[in-house]
Amino acid sequence: MELEQLPTYDDVIRAHERITPHAHRTPVMTSRLTDAELGLSLYFKCENLQRMGAFKFRGAFNALSQFDAEQRRAGVVAYSSGNHAQAVALSAALLGIPASIVMPHDAPAAKLAATKGYGADVVSYDRWSEDREEIGRALAKERGLTLIPPYDHPHVMAGQGTAAKELFEETGPLDALFVPLGGGGLLSGSLLSAGALAPECEVYGVEPEAGDDGRQSLRAGEIVHIDTPDTLADGAQTQHLGAHPFPVIRDHVTDIVTATDAQLVDCMRLFASRMKTVVEPTGCLGLAGARDLAERYRGKRVGVIISGGNVDLGRYARLLAGDLG
Ligand SMILES: *Cc1c(COP(=O)(O)O)cnc(C)c1O
Repeated sequence: MELEQLPTYDDVIRAHERITPHAHRTPVMTSRLTDAELGLSLYFKCENLQRMGAFKFRGAFNALSQFDAEQRRAGVVAYSSGNHAQAVALSAALLGIPASIVMPHDAPAAKLAATKGYGADVVSYDRWSEDREEIGRALAKERGLTLIPPYDHPHVMAGQGTAAKELFEETGPLDALFVPLGGGGLLSGSLLSAGALAPECEVYGVEPEAGDDGRQSLRAGEIVHIDTPDTLADGAQTQHLGAHPFPVIRDHVTDIVTATDAQLVDCMRLFASRMKTVVEPTGCLGLAGARDLAERYRGKRVGVIISGGNVDLGRYARLLAGDLG
């Protein structure tokens, strides 16, 4: 694949100008009890309270708002069963762009309904026998639609970087920042903001223990592909980092660490009981990483991005009750 120009912090600034009238400026929360327990000061950027329930709105809106007249008329296509689908559907609705979302026919009913609710055309496929990327590319070609991938795109990366930008603007420089990691859109964007606003800040990507392709890629110096990992963190079940995020991560990240499903559920409980906030399993990766490395940052100021809060309530209740299924 030919790489497009990688984004810089200037692109994050412009992305922020584009999304500000439409995105929520999410709160930064703290927890005295957790700080006392871990011996540091945590600052949580609450993207679970972003529109559609995750930071993905930032990248999707930034990408769609740069379509030219012809692209706007023809429409956008995205493939996702998760937060990116809803982010593209909502952004398209706000911008008056027709959207087609390729989703597995057995996707959770709530997600299908949410995507359709934003007015998107849902194209279903069989996740066992068909390839969603192929379907997405075919639709793009046949109907002249513009494909917006969930993380492997400079405009998406720049948009995702606006969450860390807002965090640093509110807290000032931090000693460390922990960022959930799937394909690397959020982490690469966060690195651009950290590099400009808090150059001394050590930035970590946190991925599921069962799918540590990011850590492997960092060690290998090239993108490592794995099978779809078995983890509760469905927003980070990616098989590999994106070609655009990878060089930014490789050159700037402090390290990539992992969290087990049990650690994620423990963090979900902490968020629910202490901070009264609903966080999906993937959204807990940052806190899980920060807790693991707390000793290293004793007495320091540490940022955590809570990346999303979209979890089926039945599943949420079962997980909190201790059923890891
Ligand atoms: C998509 C997503 C991630 C991973 O983001 P990438 O940009 O793919 O690394 C993390 N958390 C949530 C809630 C997500 O939806």
